Amino acid sequence: MHEGFPYGSIEVISGGMFCGKSEELIRRVKRASIARLKVQVFKHSIDNRYNDILVTSHSGFTYEAHAVVNIEQIRKLLKPDTQVVGIDEAQFFSDSLPALCRELADNGIRVIVAGLDQDFMGRPFGPIPVLLAIAEHVDKLTAICMKCGRPATRSQRLIDGKPAPSDSPVIVVGASESYEARCRNCHEIDDRKLGLVEQELQ
Ligand SMILES: [Zn+2]
Repeated sequence: MHEGFPYGSIEVISGGMFCGKSEELIRRVKRASIARLKVQVFKHSIDNRYNDILVTSHSGFTYEAHAVVNIEQIRKLLKPDTQVVGIDEAQFFSDSLPALCRELADNGIRVIVAGLDQDFMGRPFGPIPVLLAIAEHVDKLTAICMKCGRPATRSQRLIDGKPAPSDSPVIVVGASESYEARCRNCHEIDDRKLGLVEQELQ
């Protein structure tokens, strides 16, 4: 169905961790490659490796992605004949990502963005909320809650197996932490900080 757009467009694939966002991005990119469209994929590299070519394999399909740390690097690496642009881990880019996506789509490029819609506290994450608003097509995928087995929309952050303190930073590189997919009911937030989340959402 997405192949039907005759001109530039923005598609967002969003949801919590483990919901299959990257796999869906790769599926669409693979189909575009089969259609002989010129494709470039970019992935935010949180640990500062940049301009590397990542080769990632999911379900037997290998694809190349430029590992970048900011939007300027995407601009530098973009080729003039590219027709489809994939952007993975999009939540880590700055607030100017929506402007770039709009510019590309206005110039006839199909832009496919994958990223987390909420951080570990359940707050809207980075540039994703704006992208959800300006996209032609949005898919919110769900994982499976690791506590109750229902569809999961949240990412539970755990440090030593316990819910992370709410005042821990959103992005920690190299920390010994883990994440679980959780549903709204099973997602645990420090009660003392819950008010702050609600304030931010108002
Ligand atoms: Zn649950």
